Amino acid sequence: MFTFVAVKIFDQSSMKTIAVFCGASAGFNNTYRDKAAELGTYFANKNIAMVFGGGKIGMMGAIADAMLEKKGKVIGVIPHLLRHEEVEHNGITEMLVSENMSDRKVIISKMVDGYIALAGGFGTLDEIFEALTLGQLGIESKPVGILNTNGFFDPLLQQLDKMVTEGFLKSENRNMLLVSESIPELIDAMYAYKAPKVTKVVNTVGS
Ligand code: AMP
Repeated sequence: MFTFVAVKIFDQSSMKTIAVFCGASAGFNNTYRDKAAELGTYFANKNIAMVFGGGKIGMMGAIADAMLEKKGKVIGVIPHLLRHEEVEHNGITEMLVSENMSDRKVIISKMVDGYIALAGGFGTLDEIFEALTLGQLGIESKPVGILNTNGFFDPLLQQLDKMVTEGFLKSENRNMLLVSESIPELIDAMYAYKAPKVTKVVNTVGS
């Protein structure tokens, strides 16, 4: 048993680095791709660097291209096995190559001050839930947000609420996840984020 003191880790005065997890597909509705591009432009204008999966396809390509157009700093971390010409973005600021999918997440987590998920599939969920799990255990105290374009994540948020009511997730841990449809609102919430106090490492809800 140990206690973890909540700290505010974002500081608007210096440039920050945010990991973005999002689909290797763009979805059927252009709204998702447009929002990804809007976030890329926002980051570039605010001098926020992005670390992402390193792909040029789908949502990943949309956000990277929008950022690069505005001279933003875009760092990709791609595992060896995903390095194909059709997939890998070769115009970004820097590309790091990881051994595998697992060490990619570790590399990304060491580089960033917070995480944002946009619409995506299994890969996106895997990455964002890993970030939440690190927060839940107090291993990290970084803000984790989802940009809920078009209510894309609403069913998932309902599932999280179900986990709380059924006793599998503490409400303070549920509330770690910051949610907004608005980019500035989400970023502001990330700046204001205070990590919950961690009292137990293993049993997160109670016996
Ligand atoms: P998904 O949400 O299943 O489309 O997976 C997208 C997420 O998983 C991204 O945030 C990437 O980090 C990673 N990923 C999945 N497929 C690729 C790919 N072909 N190239 C690079 N990263 C990928």
